[in-house]
Order: sequence, then structure tokens, then C-alpha cells
Amino acid sequence: MSPASYTCQCGATLRYKQDLVKEQGDVYPTWKCRECLSEVPSVRAEQIKHQHPS
Ligand SMILES: [Zn+2]
Repeated sequence: MSPASYTCQCGATLRYKQDLVKEQGDVYPTWKCRECLSEVPSVRAEQIKHQHPS
């Protein structure tokens, strides 16, 4: 399984859990870029949040 990553609109590459900021929503948490706080698509965030730098 290849690692997931997401390139944010601010140019940051999000690869690991610590690259995301969790914001608790009414039902589901939303995940945001730690650099610019724009929302990361939940499908992609679900993959990234399980990844840690080795
Ligand atoms: Zn960003």
C-alpha cells in the first residue's frame, strides 16, 4: 500500500497525522491543513491520519 498524501491549495504536502488539525464537528470531525486551516477531503484525511513518519 503506497502512502497517501494530499497537496493543499497552500502548497503544503500533508503526509502524516501531525500535518493535520482536527476540528470536532457536530457529527464527524473535520481535518484541516495545519498551515492554512483549509479543509482536507475526509477520504484523504482518513488515510493520512494513520500515517506516521518512520
Ligand atoms: Zn494548507
